[in-house]
Amino acid sequence: MNLTNFRFETDADGIALATWDMPGRSMNVITPEVMDELAQIVDAVAGDEAIKGCVVTSGKDNFSGGADLTMLQGLGREYERMRAEQGEEAAMRHFFEESRRLSLLYRKLETCGKPFAAAVSGVCLGGAFELALACHHRVLSDDDKTRVGLPEIKVGLFPGAGGTQRVARLMQTGDALQMLFKGEQIRPLMAKNMGLAHAVAPKDEVVASAKAWIKGGGSAVASWDVPKFKAPSGKVYSPAGMMIWPPANAIYRRETHDNYPAAKAILTSVYEGLQLPMDLALKVESRYFAKILRSNEAAAMIRTLFISMGELNKGARRPKDVAPTSVRKVGVVGAGFMGAGVAYVSANAGMEVVLLDQSVEAAEKGKAYAHKLVTNQINKGRAKTADRDALLARIQASADYADLKDCDLVIEAVFEDPKVKAEVIGKVEAVIGADVIFASNTSTLPITGLAKASGRPEQFVGIHFFSPVEKMMLVEIIRGEGTGERAIATALDYVRAIKKTPIVVNDSRGFFANRCVTAYLLEGHKMLLEGVPPAMIEAAGRMAGMPVGPLSLNDEVALDLGLKIAKATEAQLGPEAVDPGQKQLLVELVENQGRLGRKNKKGFYDYPEGAPKRLWPGLKGLQPTRLDPDSVDVEELKHRLLVVQALEAARTVGEGVVTDPREADVGSILGFGFAPFTGGALSYIDFMGAEAFVGLARGLEAKHGARFSVPDNLLRMAEAGGTFYGDAAQQAA
Ligand code: NAD
Repeated sequence: MNLTNFRFETDADGIALATWDMPGRSMNVITPEVMDELAQIVDAVAGDEAIKGCVVTSGKDNFSGGADLTMLQGLGREYERMRAEQGEEAAMRHFFEESRRLSLLYRKLETCGKPFAAAVSGVCLGGAFELALACHHRVLSDDDKTRVGLPEIKVGLFPGAGGTQRVARLMQTGDALQMLFKGEQIRPLMAKNMGLAHAVAPKDEVVASAKAWIKGGGSAVASWDVPKFKAPSGKVYSPAGMMIWPPANAIYRRETHDNYPAAKAILTSVYEGLQLPMDLALKVESRYFAKILRSNEAAAMIRTLFISMGELNKGARRPKDVAPTSVRKVGVVGAGFMGAGVAYVSANAGMEVVLLDQSVEAAEKGKAYAHKLVTNQINKGRAKTADRDALLARIQASADYADLKDCDLVIEAVFEDPKVKAEVIGKVEAVIGADVIFASNTSTLPITGLAKASGRPEQFVGIHFFSPVEKMMLVEIIRGEGTGERAIATALDYVRAIKKTPIVVNDSRGFFANRCVTAYLLEGHKMLLEGVPPAMIEAAGRMAGMPVGPLSLNDEVALDLGLKIAKATEAQLGPEAVDPGQKQLLVELVENQGRLGRKNKKGFYDYPEGAPKRLWPGLKGLQPTRLDPDSVDVEELKHRLLVVQALEAARTVGEGVVTDPREADVGSILGFGFAPFTGGALSYIDFMGAEAFVGLARGLEAKHGARFSVPDNLLRMAEAGGTFYGDAAQQAA
C-alpha cells in the first residue's frame, strides 16, 4: 500500500491497526487523498485472509474535525466550470458522484466482510464521526477532551456520508432528529447512553479495547444489515410513527421558519431513508446532500461561519510587523455589569486581573459575578471547585489605582460619560508603564474623542465587548485616528487569548454592530407606530431569521439606554439625527410609564414571575392607528427588517468603518444574530445580487422613506455587477 496519511500495521493476533496521522497538520481532515488511502486499507483488510479485522484510530491528540470544507467549496466551483463547458446534466452527474464518494467508501468499509472498530480519543466530528459510525464497533476515550458529534447543520450542511441514516437506526427517531438538528458536541458517556458508542475506556486503552472486541469475535455485519432489523422507533407508517412525524414537522417549522434547507433535508432523508434498505437509503441521502451542497445557504454559511471566522480567529487582521504580545496581567476599571464580565473571561483564560472600582466593596461585587458564573459551571458538572478557587485567586478586587502598575493592558468599563472616562484615563496613565495599552469598552463614544484625554493616543484603542460578555463571542476592536499598530495587535492578541472572535473597525458613532442593530430596533418601533400588531412584528423578525423580534431585543438592551442614546445623538448632531416618532415612543414608555425593559420586568413585554413573558397589552394604546392583520404583508415586514440592517452595513463599508467584508458578515452574525442562513449582512446582498437588492430597497424607500435609500457605494457596485467580496478581492490584488 502507498500510504502517507495513515500508518498500517498488523499484530500477532492478525488484527490490523490503521493510524490516521496526516503529516504537517495539527488535525486530521478528510481530503481526496485520505479517501483514496482509506479505500486501499479496506481492500487490504478485506483481501488478506491473515487479517481478522481492523481498528481505526488517530495518531494525533484529536481523532479528526471531519471533511475539509474548502474541498467541498472546490466541488462547487468545479460544478460551475463543468456546467459552463458541458451542460447542466453532465455537471450534476459528476457533482453527485463526487459528493457521494465518502458515503460509498464508508458503506464499502461497513460491508467488506471484516469487522472494523473505531478507537476514538479527542474530537471526532462530522465526516470523521460518520467514519466511526460506519465501523461496527466504537470505543471512546473517557477523557475530558473527547467529543463526538455531527455539527454540519451549523454551516448549512447535513451529515451526507451516512450520518442521517446510521444515527436514525441507532436511536429513537425523535432523539436522532434532535441530535442532527442541534449538531452539538457530545461527551463520551452521554454518547454511550445515546447508543452512539459501544464502550468507554481510559485514553491509553481505547485501541486495546477495540482490538479485544475484534479478537472476541466481533461481527462484521451492521445491525441494520441483519435481516428482520427493526429501527428503534419501528416503522414510519405505524401508529408510533404518526406520533413522531407530524410534531417533527411542526418543530422543524417553528425552529427554522423554513430558512434552512439543510434542516429540511435532514427531515426528509430520515423520513424517506427509514422506509428503505440501507443502500437505497444512502442513495437518497446522497441526492439530498448534493442538492444542499449547491445551495446558497451552505455556500454563505461555510464562507462566513467556517472559513472567515477561522481566518479572523487566527489573526487575519493582525498587523504583521508587530511582534506577538502576551497579556499576563490585565487591569479592568469599572466593576459594573460589563467590567465584571471582562474580569471573568480574562481570569478564565488564565490571566491575572486587577478589578478596580470606586470602592473595594463595589469591586468585590464585580468579583462575586465571576464566583456566580463558575458556580453555575460547577453545578452543570463543567468545572470543579478547585477551578473556581484558582480562578477567583487570579482576580484582585481593588480601589487603588496603584495596583494597576504591573498590568500589560488596561480596559476601562466605567460609566458612559466622557468626563468620568477622562478622569479615569488620567489616573490610569499616571501609574501604568509607558508602553502599556489602554482600551475603552465604550459603546457609543468615538475613540478619537476619548483619546484626547490620553497622553499616549497611539496606545489608545477601543475593545468593545457585547453583553453578556461571557456568552457573546464577538469583540469589536476600534481604531481611533491616532491608534497605533501595536495597540491593535495587542488588542487582537488579547481577544485571541480569551477565545473570542475579533473584528477591527474604524472609529464612527456606534462603530459597526450597534449601528446595524439600532436600525433593526428602529424598524420595529416604526412598524408599531404604523399600527402593525406587535405580535406580528415579533413573528416577522423571527421568520426573517433573527433570533428574537425587535421589540424583544429592545427590552434586553434596555429602553432607557435607547432613549439616552437618542437624546445624546440629538444634542450632538441636531434634531434631524433622530426619528421624532421613535423618540416620543421611548419617552412615553420610559418617562411616563416607567417601562425600562427586562431589567425592571416592564418593557414592550411584561415579565411575570414564574411565567413566560408576554407582550404588554398597553402597547395598543401607543398605536395611533391599528392595521387589520390580514392587510399586512408579512413578506414585506421580513424584508424591511433585514434590508434596513444590510443597508446600514453597506454604509459602514462606504464610509470606511468596515474595511473587510468578512468582518461585517462574521460581526453581524456573532454580534446581533443577523439571519445566519444568509451568511451575514453583506453576504445577504451578495447572494441576492446587488442589482436585485437595490431594486428591493428602492421599493421600500418609495413606501417607507429615506432610511431605505441606497448608499452610493452600493449603487456603483450594482451598476458594475460587482459584489462586496469580489470588490474587496480586487482591491487586495
Ligand atoms: P455599569 O453602570 O454597570 O458599571 C459601571 C461601573 O463603573 C460601576 O460599577 C461604577 O461604580 C464604576 N465606576 C464609575 N466611575 C468610576 C471611576 N471613576 N473609577 C472606577 N470605577 C468607576 O455600566 P456597564 O453597563 O458595565 O457599562 C460600562 C461601560 O461599558 C460603558 O462605557 C458602556 O457604554 C459600555 N458597554 C456597555 C454594554 C452594556 O450592554 N451594558 C455593552 C457594551 C459596552
